[in-house]
Amino acid sequence: MIPYGRQSVGEDDVAAVAETLRSDWLTTGPKVREFEEAVCRYTGAAEAVAVNSGTAALHAMMAALEIGPGDEVIVPAMTFAATSNSVVYQGGTPVFADVDPRTLQICPESVRRLISNRTRAVIAVDYAGLPCDYQTLRSITDPRGIALLSDGCHSLGGRIGASKVGTLADMTSFSFHPVKPITTGEGGMVTTSNRNLAARMRQFRNHGISTDARQREEQGTWYYEMTMLGYNYRICDIQCALGISQLQKLDRWLTRRTEIAAVYDQAFADSGTIQCLSNRPGTVHGYHLYVVKVPAEQRNAMFRSLRAAGVGVNVHYIPVHLHPFYQKRFQTSRGQCPNAERAFEQILSLPIHPNVSEADQQHVISTLKSLCSISHSRAA
Ligand SMILES: *Cc1c(COP(=O)(O)O)cnc(C)c1O
Repeated sequence: MIPYGRQSVGEDDVAAVAETLRSDWLTTGPKVREFEEAVCRYTGAAEAVAVNSGTAALHAMMAALEIGPGDEVIVPAMTFAATSNSVVYQGGTPVFADVDPRTLQICPESVRRLISNRTRAVIAVDYAGLPCDYQTLRSITDPRGIALLSDGCHSLGGRIGASKVGTLADMTSFSFHPVKPITTGEGGMVTTSNRNLAARMRQFRNHGISTDARQREEQGTWYYEMTMLGYNYRICDIQCALGISQLQKLDRWLTRRTEIAAVYDQAFADSGTIQCLSNRPGTVHGYHLYVVKVPAEQRNAMFRSLRAAGVGVNVHYIPVHLHPFYQKRFQTSRGQCPNAERAFEQILSLPIHPNVSEADQQHVISTLKSLCSISHSRAA
């Protein structure tokens, strides 16, 4: 099976992890800070706070803003459930915005309509790796004092003009799960230019305690205070050693992902059946996913046939407001986000990651094209 996404781990990564295993610090040692500094240098962000998952990163952003009961946070319907779950963890209410059918990203017009006097933040998701139109979103959020956040779990390495993902919103969350642009096994990070928010998130990841064990050891003290309710969201040095090593290869991998995407774009350009998503000029796409739309009535059959032919397609995502939990807890329902609901029935994620070979990709393309011509001749 050619998976839709997969990690690349080399001997250099293995050596970096082994070195940390032989060191004094397995968790919250020098590698955490080093990884945060490396991501700051890479993205141009002033502050970075590493945590143990992308979900924890989203939760930390919500905690930093002190989202709580009565607060609303606008999220796109087309995302992984973790985006909106982070609002619910804090007792807030997620409000689902519809998406633009061309990019499947949060639709600014939908955001504008959903703003109320309880709206505290908007989380834009860089779906598939394409940075959202932050300039338009900012023109809506800034005048109203609403925080603009980015779920950049797909888009590390992307940019708009010279500005990298990680600097485009007030805070940006990243995930280092194995299918994401770089991996630490499990892991995540938040970047921001706001020192106060960063300080609060550092505390939040360690039970709400004002210092960590290493700082206390260096200061020769045992005293600490817990001043807010936090969690154990610490990432360990072993994971960060892997992250530092992986980050050095990100640009090379991004180049390969971009080449793969260009081959798909061209292969499907003249297809009446297979529709690709839009890019945005001046924007560098992270290509975490390569998503196509096929006719809704054929999608499930195509999914099965592609899997049977060894092509590990997937569907990203079931619109979050359709999950039973949200329907029950927040009375969400079908019809609320028609663009996301329609797209959900048409989408397939095709294999894209640095180790998809040219032969693999030709197999994906020819299999998908032949399925289209079969369904065409049936229709005729
Ligand atoms: C992967 C992902 C997350 C969650 O990240 P984890 O590291 O798996 O917790 C959140 N949002 C989006 C859009 C994601 O793709």
